[in-house]
Amino acid sequence: MTMTYRGIIPFSGGIDSTAALYTTLTEYPNDTWLVFKVNLINGSAASRTIQEELAVNAILDELRAMGIQNFRYKRLAFDYAQLGSPPVWDSEVVNFAAATCIRANPSIGELIEGAIADDYLQAGFDDRLAKIEKILYLVSEKSRSELQIKFPLQHKNKYEVMKLLPTAILNLTWSCRYPEGDVNWQLQRCHKCATCQTIDQTLEQYPNAFEGFE
Ligand SMILES: [Zn+2]
Repeated sequence: MTMTYRGIIPFSGGIDSTAALYTTLTEYPNDTWLVFKVNLINGSAASRTIQEELAVNAILDELRAMGIQNFRYKRLAFDYAQLGSPPVWDSEVVNFAAATCIRANPSIGELIEGAIADDYLQAGFDDRLAKIEKILYLVSEKSRSELQIKFPLQHKNKYEVMKLLPTAILNLTWSCRYPEGDVNWQLQRCHKCATCQTIDQTLEQYPNAFEGFE
């Protein structure tokens, strides 16, 4: 029997996609959602792939333990490391894969995007978003009324997005693009990539707001 889903939620284990996931699952507890992780192995960020995978599994376990269970989890891996430095944006691959998933599950009527207010301020963001939408509708073969793209976080800044997550969930997220080695093979945030910088600015601005978050 094919499951019926209200929508699909691409999930990377980062703060924003975790917040989009948490908001959606708790706001619509009577609908079932398809949580979708695309594992991109592209050679430039092997350690990030590992950290994201650990984060995704830990967060989903924590949600289940909290009694939030209105989802199914599907995972797909693409290894295109042989192509050298990635020829496409991660978000394009993720949405292409999500669209093929939507074709296979015709009940899916929504796609949840984790874009936050800060993203819209970046140069070129609107163009990237427009391209993603194009990919989604082309590959899924759905019309705009059959498939809606929802942006639950579009009016929230990083602080507000971090604040809406329970501490136990926030502390399991992984957002750094280039994790760095530490003692005992533990990886840490690089504090240099764009994502780390936004997080560190927020932590600096609100020093005691996020207990246990590093
Ligand atoms: Zn980083």
